[in-house]
Amino acid sequence: MSDPLDYVRGFAVTFRKLFEERVTTQYRGGRARPGQPDEKRPKPPRAHGRHVLNRYEDGMEKCIGCELCAGVCPARCIYVRGADNDPDAPTSPGERYGFVYEINYLRCIHCDLCVEACPTEAITETKLFEFSFTNRDDAIYTKAELLVDDGGRPRHLPWEDWRPGEDEHTSAWMRATSPSGDADYEGRVAWSGELGYGVRAPERGQSGEAAGE
Ligand code: SF4
Ligand code: SF4
Repeated sequence: MSDPLDYVRGFAVTFRKLFEERVTTQYRGGRARPGQPDEKRPKPPRAHGRHVLNRYEDGMEKCIGCELCAGVCPARCIYVRGADNDPDAPTSPGERYGFVYEINYLRCIHCDLCVEACPTEAITETKLFEFSFTNRDDAIYTKAELLVDDGGRPRHLPWEDWRPGEDEHTSAWMRATSPSGDADYEGRVAWSGELGYGVRAPERGQSGEAAGE
């Protein structure tokens, strides 16, 4: 039998913790306590979050339905079905386009291998990781949800926590050059333009930062 005083001791610990410094960060508007930030902390430039399917500057979809992303995905969470483009009203510049595209976020481990495998830069990851769904249907993102809108920005789904400006960083890692590779390519843009953004400037490389540029 437990000692009744154990309950008192337990509640005493809880009570003491109420007045200690918080080690967690609570950034939901309106609920932060004094001394706690009400804002999200900046994320690392190449954080991997919720995916988007990108479009070219003219609005055409970049996905050509090749299924390479699905083939390389270690979690087997991408489902793609390609279809032939209508020659009179093509969806993508190629012969085929992604007719069905789904990502199951109950499985995705955000490894970014799909992004690296994609030959057309169609699939990239934003930095958004705050999307907690309450049912399986919401967890499986469809093409309509993943495809950027007419302004080139990710669609904001009801259960996602986007803050102003966060939807601008949808393909940051692809803008990085490779300072650990051939220095001649640092700062060179080597990817296609995006709807809403055009051709983005390259990220500054590590050697540039080291030189204080
Ligand atoms: S990030 Fe990794 S686990 Fe997630 S869909 Fe892409 S390849 Fe699969
Ligand atoms: S997202 Fe890229 S890799 Fe995946 S099917 Fe489309 S074009 Fe192919």
